[in-house]
Amino acid sequence: MTCACGKELSFNEMGLSKKFLAGGEKLCLHCLSRRLDVSEERLKEKIEEFLRAGCKLFVAEKEV
Ligand SMILES: [Zn+2]
Repeated sequence: MTCACGKELSFNEMGLSKKFLAGGEKLCLHCLSRRLDVSEERLKEKIEEFLRAGCKLFVAEKEV
């Protein structure tokens, strides 16, 4: 699956999209940060938080 900008989406980017976007839309980290008006760093922190909470929509980056 690819983002509207053409970038190939990572597993975690698809997970974030599921968490934050309605209607099944999928965006990469860059486009998601612009859409949600938060920094990419903040989104990466959110991935870490979801990971620590045991959310199966995310994997540790080194395992991607
Ligand atoms: Zn994108």
